[in-house]
Amino acid sequence: MSHPDRMPAVFFGHGSPMTAFEPDNPYVAAWRDLGRRLPRPKAILVISGHWYAPGVAVTAMDRPPTIHDFYGFPEQLYRFRYEVPGSPRLAARAAELLAPVQVAQTDRWGLDHGAWTVLMHAFPDADVPVVQLSLDRRLTPAEHYALGARLKPLRDEGVLVMGTGNIVHNLRIYDRSGQAPPNPVAEGFRRKVTAAFREHDHAALIGALDDPDARLAAPTPDHFLPVLYVAALQGEDESPQFITEVTEGGGVDMTTVVLGAERLAA
Ligand code: ZN
Repeated sequence: MSHPDRMPAVFFGHGSPMTAFEPDNPYVAAWRDLGRRLPRPKAILVISGHWYAPGVAVTAMDRPPTIHDFYGFPEQLYRFRYEVPGSPRLAARAAELLAPVQVAQTDRWGLDHGAWTVLMHAFPDADVPVVQLSLDRRLTPAEHYALGARLKPLRDEGVLVMGTGNIVHNLRIYDRSGQAPPNPVAEGFRRKVTAAFREHDHAALIGALDDPDARLAAPTPDHFLPVLYVAALQGEDESPQFITEVTEGGGVDMTTVVLGAERLAA
């Protein structure tokens, strides 16, 4: 059965915060294009690999601040603000859907760079309210997936659920010159993950971090876990669409996964 009004769900592979000022960057171009083609969401719920904390929380303020959670970048980047409304209503709705898990509706976070470096390009008018949901570092991958599954009704309520992280994320093997060939282990991991998405093999996605290749491809779980929140929203009739399937510098995979791509404008 297809669901003509179901909002797509997207996992974004994000990169360096410098993409904020790189209009010609191919990933930026892809995010802009995707943002233009998505049905207009009523609000956006973001799960970012950069809010990895003990406990489940949602940002519940009217104006979430732009968080500059990185070091050693040009001053210009620290001055940037993505001035977007929040949505206490969506925060409360997410908390309701995730119950009985305790969800803190907090003003102690905002939008981290996993969220705003993508949103500023996909939604440059900053007129769609945004709420961030934390990744509880105490949970197993299966528990993260189960939380994601509880968010399913949001797609039918006009909310864009988006994960932002990386299928492969290892800065120790990342080659800044950009000339590095793909690391075969990381590349194998990426292929297994995208194949599992294609085959609706969610057990494989939940178990991916136990794969021996994950020690190199995803040595910490934070950037991978948002994948599970999006996978949990995959309808039985939905084939994922992959865009920008490139592993930057051999260590940061920029693959973006779109569910419900048939609802994208031409
Ligand atoms: Zn990141």
